[in-house]
Amino acid sequence: MDRRAFLKLMGATMAGTAGGSLWSPRLSGAQGHNPEGKEFYGILVDTTRCIGCRRCEKACAEVNGLPIPDISESTNESVLKTKRKTTDTQYTVISRYETDSGTVFVPRRCMHCNQPGCTAACLVKAMKKRKTGQVTWDLNCIGCRLCMISCPFDIPKFEYGKAIPRIQKCNLCWDRFNQGGLPGCVEVCPTQALMFGTRRQILEEGKRRIATGPDKYIDHIFGEYEVGGTSHLYLSSVPFEQIGFRKDLGTVPYPEYSTGFLYAVPFIFVLWPIVMLGINRATKGNGKGKDEHHG
Ligand code: SF4
Ligand code: SF4
Repeated sequence: MDRRAFLKLMGATMAGTAGGSLWSPRLSGAQGHNPEGKEFYGILVDTTRCIGCRRCEKACAEVNGLPIPDISESTNESVLKTKRKTTDTQYTVISRYETDSGTVFVPRRCMHCNQPGCTAACLVKAMKKRKTGQVTWDLNCIGCRLCMISCPFDIPKFEYGKAIPRIQKCNLCWDRFNQGGLPGCVEVCPTQALMFGTRRQILEEGKRRIATGPDKYIDHIFGEYEVGGTSHLYLSSVPFEQIGFRKDLGTVPYPEYSTGFLYAVPFIFVLWPIVMLGINRATKGNGKGKDEHHG
């Protein structure tokens, strides 16, 4: 760990213990966590605390059975130079930005939108918004990729290289959540740059940090209102456009655009997923149908 990261780690640790907050990612996850509840859960991402160690990337890969990234310091130096997007084998990625206030590291993954464009676009409801906020993906996906073009954050990715390709993205560690666990990324973050809780809790915590640190944070929580609100909320020391966030998203949930969108695109483009659905259903039903027909 270089000197700058070490100082940031110390600063973040002191902020967590001396800042008047009893908040802990473990407390909210282990004690307040209710998989049967109806409140949305999410992650508060405090970019002022992130030191770019990429442990969250590694934990994400381990939890999801993905290729484990090399997060040695020498590799991080070159990896972080690139502004990265999630891929079909990397559901969490960190990028580094040089800003007016110095270096800022930004973790990115699915925002788990309150009203997701991806779920609204999915014809077979393979993408689901769970009542506890997570946006998950099921095996009945037909590979139409409408979720990809409906996501304002360019998150779902298609496994182009696989014989039976699927859509891949972060599901906020859905299985771990149902067993009372924390998302893998939150569990390993050494600086509490990632904190898990109900959306209400993390929003309150974000507002508390801004109120108690007006010199440290800009007065904006990204995701509070963008695209109708998200369950991933971000704090920053600089305007969000300096760290790669779009300014043009607005506050209207993306599903509200979808009707107009579907009428606006060429007819064949609308029909294509329906054709694919028919093919998918026909393929899946073939064996059964034959048996019935010939039985
Ligand atoms: S583990 Fe925490 S500090 Fe390290 S890169 Fe991820 S968010 Fe940043
Ligand atoms: S960020 Fe994209 S993939 Fe994630 S919930 Fe929102 S629309 Fe869906």
